Amino acid sequence: MPGLPFGSRLAGMGRKRQARARKPQISPTKIRVFLECPLMYKLVYITKSASFYYTPNAGDSFGGTLHRAIHDFYAAGGHSTQTAEELVERLQSTWTSTGYSSLQEESAHQEFGARLLEEYYANSRSGSITLFTERQLREDMGEFVLIGRIDRLDERPDGTLEIIDYKTGRGSVTEEEVARDLAMSIYQLLARRKYPGRQVIATIHCLRTGISASAYLTDPQTVELEQFIREVAAGMLAITEDTDILPERKPACDTCKLSRICERAAMSDER
Ligand code: SF4
Repeated sequence: MPGLPFGSRLAGMGRKRQARARKPQISPTKIRVFLECPLMYKLVYITKSASFYYTPNAGDSFGGTLHRAIHDFYAAGGHSTQTAEELVERLQSTWTSTGYSSLQEESAHQEFGARLLEEYYANSRSGSITLFTERQLREDMGEFVLIGRIDRLDERPDGTLEIIDYKTGRGSVTEEEVARDLAMSIYQLLARRKYPGRQVIATIHCLRTGISASAYLTDPQTVELEQFIREVAAGMLAITEDTDILPERKPACDTCKLSRICERAAMSDER
């Protein structure tokens, strides 16, 4: 079969070309990290050396579990087919023990999670229809693809599309905070592109307290946002493994998990 190796090599080259041609994906999280610190962006997303420094924590685990439980609840029909007990039971089926420092900490979170889901069930019934949960929206922006993962998209009785984002770590939110939130704005831009002509609004819902607030982008704000994203993306796309970025002291350093890398780099510079 003389043609096979040649053919398979061509097929392999085709796959490589396809892989090379894949456009970079830019998400709200990547933009936030880049704006906080370009070096952090390089270490996390370009060289990927930051993954060695990631340690699972209870907050991430707990948040992920609640998101999955609520997603499964809506996927099974939401309030129209599910009871509060069934929602709470989903906490067990989606639970992961990763990140908790002790059994006591884990069981305290399990009790807290059950209470939050009971309250969520009682307070989240509305006249809206849930269109989907936990879905990625994407928009080809030319040089890159803008992506955003939406926790829940509802259609209100008046036809407005409502993007709902759950927060497990915070207890309060205001309209101004939603209006200033870059991720919520990007989700709106993506939803507007996917559903042209529809009114879109974004809501942050704090699971700990049940407090929520909403805001929406006007047409001129959407144009401004797109321009901003394109400018930031140009800076992000210019960073490669070879780009030299020196560590600089900034507010993000106080909580940055990569400070050890930067301290080592600073020490070797001083030598
Ligand atoms: S420690 Fe500071 S300079 Fe270094 S990656 Fe983190 S935020 Fe950036």
